[in-house]
Amino acid sequence: MHDAHPNTLAVHAGQQPDPATGAVAPPIHLATTFRHGPAGERLAGYEYQREGNPTNDRLREALTALEGGATALTFASGMAAMTTLLESLPAGSRVLFPDDCYSGLRMLFTEFLPERGLHVETVDMGDLDAVRAACATPVSLLWIETPSNPLLKISDIAALAILGHAAGAMVVVDNTFATPLLQRPLALGADIVMHSTTKYFGGHSDVLGGALVFARDDAFARKVAHRLHVTGAVLAPFSAWLTLRGCRSLGARMAMHCANARKLAEFLAAHPAVERVNWPGLPSHPGHAVAAKQMREFGAMLSVELRGGREAALAVAGRLRIFTNATSLGGCESLVEHRASVEGAHPRSPQDLLRISVGLEDARDLVADFAQALG
Ligand SMILES: *Cc1c(COP(=O)(O)O)cnc(C)c1O
Repeated sequence: MHDAHPNTLAVHAGQQPDPATGAVAPPIHLATTFRHGPAGERLAGYEYQREGNPTNDRLREALTALEGGATALTFASGMAAMTTLLESLPAGSRVLFPDDCYSGLRMLFTEFLPERGLHVETVDMGDLDAVRAACATPVSLLWIETPSNPLLKISDIAALAILGHAAGAMVVVDNTFATPLLQRPLALGADIVMHSTTKYFGGHSDVLGGALVFARDDAFARKVAHRLHVTGAVLAPFSAWLTLRGCRSLGARMAMHCANARKLAEFLAAHPAVERVNWPGLPSHPGHAVAAKQMREFGAMLSVELRGGREAALAVAGRLRIFTNATSLGGCESLVEHRASVEGAHPRSPQDLLRISVGLEDARDLVADFAQALG
């Protein structure tokens, strides 16, 4: 099974019929505690829900197979996955983060990680010379997010893995935007893949979750697992079950998400009111060649910068009818967001930028909606 194609893995990995009943859809085990022997013998491998449960183990199996890893852990959210991983590093560790990244990660490494004794630096991961210079002194962990949020910057995972490893670093990739259906970082040399399964894996904007997939089931993977089980930011079984259900349609959804994104990106790129479309599938995108090398398709997240600046961006966001103004991404419904308005007192996103999560509606309706909103 593990050498099957990604669409087959998405449907079948971790989804085998229930051995007790033959039920084709996986059961949800809500038990918090499991009967053990008089001397604490684990009769079926389980003891207490925080330390593992059968529904979560199915999702872990699915994620491991999809990313081609050795083992996986699931968490209450993507942020819980990041935090548990990064707080497993010893104090004094030097960590390189990308300059364009998910805003929660930025808050984590500016507000929280320095207090834990981590030395944090940011670098443009698309600039290999800059990364090489930053790697002249030892690095504990190098964090990659590609495509990145919200500028859709592309970083070369294979090249960065070589640079990171030469500096002694573990290389971690946030693969949330791409999913393993489009990009498999472990095969490109990364050590750990991180996901917010809240997005495409869940796929219906109704379940929060996070995951780490490890290339090796080594001492560090076990250290992170132990930290998760003790500190307790675990995924609830019902959330694991919903995410597992999302896996079954992930291949089909990603194909349609990507096809819709291409049509919308091409329409927007040709529109006179649009200054720039950030989508790696466009040949004009600076990361297009690297994206074409490491991704099967280019994803369904894009951002658009408008000629009329902030005013135009807000006006367009206000006139869209099918696109809902909301944060997050990866659901069936298309979303739009003026990122600068929701980034607090010190927004980093350009004021003229709208971020778009292209959903599963008919692409003709999505294009028509932008056509009327752009005027
Ligand atoms: C949403 C998101 C996260 C955080 O995940 P949560 O599940 O919201 O905690 C991390 N990285 C990326 C790229 C995301 O889009």
